[in-house]
Amino acid sequence: MDAFEYRPNPANIIFGSGSISKTGDQLKRHGLSKPLILSTPEQTGQAEALRKILEGKVEVVGIFSEATMHTPLHVTEKALKYCEEKSPDCLISIGGGSTIGLGKAMSVRNGLFHIVIPTTYAGSEVTPVVGETVDGKKTTRSDPKILPSLVIYDLDLTMTLPVGLSVTSGINAIAHAAEALYAQKGDPITNLFAQEGTRALARALPELVKDKSSVSARRDAQYGAWLCGTCLGSVGMSLHHKLCHTLGGTFNLPHSETHTIVLPHALAYNAPKVPEAMKMLADALPESNGDPIQGLNTLLAKTNAPRSLKAFGMKEEDIDKAADIAVSNAYWNPRSVERDLIREVIRRAWAGEDAR
Ligand code: NAD
Repeated sequence: MDAFEYRPNPANIIFGSGSISKTGDQLKRHGLSKPLILSTPEQTGQAEALRKILEGKVEVVGIFSEATMHTPLHVTEKALKYCEEKSPDCLISIGGGSTIGLGKAMSVRNGLFHIVIPTTYAGSEVTPVVGETVDGKKTTRSDPKILPSLVIYDLDLTMTLPVGLSVTSGINAIAHAAEALYAQKGDPITNLFAQEGTRALARALPELVKDKSSVSARRDAQYGAWLCGTCLGSVGMSLHHKLCHTLGGTFNLPHSETHTIVLPHALAYNAPKVPEAMKMLADALPESNGDPIQGLNTLLAKTNAPRSLKAFGMKEEDIDKAADIAVSNAYWNPRSVERDLIREVIRRAWAGEDAR
């Protein structure tokens, strides 16, 4: 075995149906009694339900429900002001990556203990990373202080996640695992997480399309999301994540849908340079016949996943702009990032062609 370094992130993870009811006891265990709850406007109902669960145990000092995709700084500043007025002793983010992003942006500035109750499969809850947007430009930073301290996974809260978003969010999670398998500083433990997480999601997503209320599929999907998110939090990502960051930030394309559409194309580009990683990924994807791109194409077809960026409003003339930006910042990738070849990767994703 090659030398490696493994740095597990020290968050406390609680998993299981109904586990949101443990939040009060967890707060007490950590000596906390005055939480501020964060959510998106669409998830105010779940935030209110949490307030009810905590009644009589701790004092919820307020609910800030204006979390927005891509963590705009002006929303963070408004939330920080509200936070100062309410003087909580901790933050609870209940929601997906957008709400968690707000909680991270706040806690890294005011030092408050951050608890996350995730409701999608994006994985942000287990990463020390936050992307923030100022004047339409999204920049990402990483700091161990950004990592939430406690994560409570309750599959009951994912029951309302629409099927389409469940699928794209789940493929977003598989993207973390896939790139972890060929990460520059990868390690065998992260590889185990990546394969197990991919297997769980590949099992769950087609099942969810058939029955969105399947408890076993929701459990598998959330378990897979945690494992894949942990990969994202442990090792560096490359071409696929950089492309999605560029496309999402520059053309305001939706996060999980963009990941879903780009993934097979980005992997097909890197595949010739990373045969070992591709074999591990193929082993985790059913019906791949040893070819992970085929396995992914099959999974996307079975789950009626979106396939073209064009359908989300990206214009043909933006392909060149995206290719220029994608090669403008140097980053590590297993295969050198060549502008004309990357343009073709983006064009295929734009047109909705099968990856090759
Ligand atoms: P999201 O949080 O934006 O949620 C999408 C929509 O679905 C929102 O309206 C939300 O309120 C709603 N929703 C979420 N869970 C629901 C549920 N269970 N039932 C009903 N509605 C629900 O989506 P996301 O894909 O989780 O997050 C995307 C954001 O997270 C992006 O800004 C992305 O950059 C960021 N992200 C960051 C990291 C990281 O490590 N920093 C990782 C992944 C994603």
